[in-house]
Amino acid sequence: MNLLNKIFNIVFPGKCLLCNDSTGLNTENICSKCMDKIAFIKGSTCARCGIPFEVSYSLEDNLDYLCQRCRIFSPSFDMALSACRYDGVIKEIISAYKYQNKPYLGNDIISIMLRVVERGLVELSPELIIAVPLHVKRLRERGYDQAYILAEGIGRYLNIPVSCGNLTRIRYTVPQVNLSRDERIKNVKGAFSVKDTHELKGKRVFLIDDVFTTGATIEECVKIIRDAGAEKIYVVTVARA
Ligand SMILES: [Zn+2]
Ligand SMILES: [Zn+2]
Repeated sequence: MNLLNKIFNIVFPGKCLLCNDSTGLNTENICSKCMDKIAFIKGSTCARCGIPFEVSYSLEDNLDYLCQRCRIFSPSFDMALSACRYDGVIKEIISAYKYQNKPYLGNDIISIMLRVVERGLVELSPELIIAVPLHVKRLRERGYDQAYILAEGIGRYLNIPVSCGNLTRIRYTVPQVNLSRDERIKNVKGAFSVKDTHELKGKRVFLIDDVFTTGATIEECVKIIRDAGAEKIYVVTVARA
């Protein structure tokens, strides 16, 4: 932080988005007390989809242990990583970020992601970052693309190019929130397309989104990216349900 920012923060200390306390001498919008309430994913998780196990097993001998769901329906991505459970504090932060015209919260969310998955992200050595795209109509309503902002932050941090406008949403879909799993799969079928397969061919790709819920949207994007020739596809989200 430069000197001018420091002085600015002393004169006008930031207020925490959630509890209204001072966030202290920094430019973040979430105070450390609220940060500590986030349900960060620690302990053992499914090697494929990253879902945390209810009981933390000692998995030193078996790092490839899969959850029951992944053993039955093998996901089309290679691995999924999330920083925290989609619960409490993070739900409020993501909702404010997406629905209350607060694109600047992207910075806070990126630091939440990096707190947990930073090492994992570096180890996977991605070559390209792609965000789950918004339909242009939704983009106009919201004014910014929340997943793209996160992708750009991760890209800048890892010094890796971020794909822009290649994976697109070609069909407007109703929000997935109130749909069942089967309805979600149907709702997003054929909703995405890749314009330039050359960008993806043989690449290790990170697919970025804010929340991993049933995975229907993510699975559909992964299929399209895979068809375009990507070699490895890792899904990176802030939170997972
Ligand atoms: Zn707070
Ligand atoms: Zn799994």
